[in-house]
Amino acid sequence: MNRVYNFSAGPSALPLPVLEEAQRDMICHGDSGMSVMEMSHRSGAYQAIIDECEASLRSLLNIPENYKVLFLQGGASSQFAMVPLNLFNGSKKADCVLTGLWAKKFYKEASRYGDVKVVGSSEDKTFSYIPKLDKSTFTPDADFFHITYNNTIYGTKFAELPDVGNVPLVADMSSSILSEPVDVSKFGIIYAGAQKNMAPAGLTVAIVREDLIGNAMDITPTMFNYATHAENGSMFNTPPTYTIYICSLVCKWLKELGGLEAMKAINVEKAALLYDYLDNSAMFNATVEAKEDRSLMNVPFVTGNDELNAKFIKEATAAGFVNLKGHRSVGGMRASIYNAMPVEGVKALVDFMKKFEADNK
Ligand SMILES: *Cc1c(COP(=O)(O)O)cnc(C)c1O
Repeated sequence: MNRVYNFSAGPSALPLPVLEEAQRDMICHGDSGMSVMEMSHRSGAYQAIIDECEASLRSLLNIPENYKVLFLQGGASSQFAMVPLNLFNGSKKADCVLTGLWAKKFYKEASRYGDVKVVGSSEDKTFSYIPKLDKSTFTPDADFFHITYNNTIYGTKFAELPDVGNVPLVADMSSSILSEPVDVSKFGIIYAGAQKNMAPAGLTVAIVREDLIGNAMDITPTMFNYATHAENGSMFNTPPTYTIYICSLVCKWLKELGGLEAMKAINVEKAALLYDYLDNSAMFNATVEAKEDRSLMNVPFVTGNDELNAKFIKEATAAGFVNLKGHRSVGGMRASIYNAMPVEGVKALVDFMKKFEADNK
């Protein structure tokens, strides 16, 4: 069977060269005589793999020295508890912006541990935009300020970071990490589930400023304390060894491509192809109208007619464009065009949409 163009929101497509290298080394990695899957996480061979993964992430994202890179489990969803448990150590107050389902889930979970204030929301219009924020409403002594940087379901992204002063800015970057450069020094914590843009499912990466580690709430479970993982090189217990290995291959692929500036240029090109078509189509419309709020990674679109949406998804699937069904809360379609989606895949999708539009006038 041929490989399809996979527009899944996550777990999502991986770069073909990464899959090929993993396949080649599946049974025997280097001169270890075993698969990476079979290695002890305490072995020298495996230590080299996790070290390389961390070094690659540090160089790709230009992570400053005073940040730890932690390889965790439990998904981004566990960070919804881990962040407040570790950071509610002062006023026990925090601010957050509701820009989608994941942001709301964070808000709900964090509110179990402290006083979280909503300083902006776009729920009035199905989260189809990034709300304008008024700095005077921010809590000056907050322990942290949380945003979902890229909103996977609704297709929006913060073009500009909120001006939080000295309050640690915490960002869920699950669906945009490694898609373009970010200034890590502007954040207290960046976290991401790996299954969108870094690796298969099972790994969560947290990039944590060192001064935010070591002052967790007393009730914090040992495994939810950043200090536990920071002090043990992410080896307090068994880390997701194979997923970290694939992450290191993805990083190597990105470095060979020219790093995150080069990746961004490709992602901008892909997104422009799709949005330009959507903005000029008489049949399809992007659900995010404000251009500055549009995600480079997730592009939701609709026809305004449920039957036509269903027909499109059915015919697209048959033609090898899969996982285009939108999230149930938005309806219609969504094309997730993460790093691993090649430009040709987006071009082919746009050509298919043009033909569909002509055939269904
Ligand atoms: C997918 C996603 C999540 C959930 O991630 P899990 O790893 O499944 O917990 C959280 N936030 C965002 C922005 C996501 O895209």
